Amino acid sequence: MKRRNFVKQSGLFAITAGIVKDLRNLERLAKSQSNKPIVIATWNNHKAVMQAWEILSKDGYALDAVEAGARIPEQDPEDTSVGYGGFPDREGRVTLDACIMDSEGNAGSVLFLQGIMHPVSVARLVMEKTPHVYLSGEGAKIFALENGFKEEKLLTDKAKQAYEQWKEKQQYVPKITPEQHDTIGILAMDSKGRLSGACTTSGMAFKMHGRVGDSPIIGSGLYVDNQIGAAAATGLGEAVIKKVGSFSIVEMMRNGMNPEKACKKAIARLTEIKGPKDFQVGYIAIDKSGAFGAYSLKKGFPYVIVRNGQVELLQAGFLQG
Ligand code: ASP
Repeated sequence: MKRRNFVKQSGLFAITAGIVKDLRNLERLAKSQSNKPIVIATWNNHKAVMQAWEILSKDGYALDAVEAGARIPEQDPEDTSVGYGGFPDREGRVTLDACIMDSEGNAGSVLFLQGIMHPVSVARLVMEKTPHVYLSGEGAKIFALENGFKEEKLLTDKAKQAYEQWKEKQQYVPKITPEQHDTIGILAMDSKGRLSGACTTSGMAFKMHGRVGDSPIIGSGLYVDNQIGAAAATGLGEAVIKKVGSFSIVEMMRNGMNPEKACKKAIARLTEIKGPKDFQVGYIAIDKSGAFGAYSLKKGFPYVIVRNGQVELLQAGFLQG
């Protein structure tokens, strides 16, 4: 056989083998949806998953469930990393990022949004009412106001106090300590096997004005592929963005990895990034069979799930103690 033909044929064989493997994996995932409905979220977002479960347990749509769940920390003044009560940037302004994905492959996102308490719902409207995926800053705010959202003061006294304290030293290095982040990533599969996800945050505390993290970036803070699974991230957004974390996890699941292994592998990839190492990232994932998993870079990443009406707070495995 001529070399060129041989190369062509072996290339074709490799492609065919890849397709067969993909199809087998899809078949396996579709057949074994035993764990549905299910909802999983980063950190101890207990109230958020229970709110989502309310909808899932009545055979509601996973998209409605993740939106309703994400709205809980958004409106909680005690949650200093999401929505109302979120720590401001270094100019003292609360700027919010959020995104959402449905089971049809659609996505909507808002970045650097100010004065609106529920960015996740604005993101949903971007997805459903516009031909776009991302709306940012002033444009996102105008869109929200035009669609019935009201402008609110989001900086609470508690957050303002923390900001005043931070100003005394004004450490410039963007660094994420465990107390500084609590972004909610929430993923659900409903009783019909439809997957959806949402992610919402006020971002890194005392970030530069205008900084946007991974949370509203489709593929980084969140990714949903209804045939395969879904993943979401929390932690140092810059690191997650550099490795397109959530998308890479879903692609690893497509190739047959279970959710926990895929999260672990995506965490290991973060160590390839040169630069400061003292940051935290945590990933959560579910696949189409209802299997779930999580992993973090450093010790101390709890996540919460509800299945069969039972809520469980679990600790993710970690790479570095
Ligand atoms: N991922 C968020 C960001 O970088 C922060 C966090 O999870 O706390 O904006």
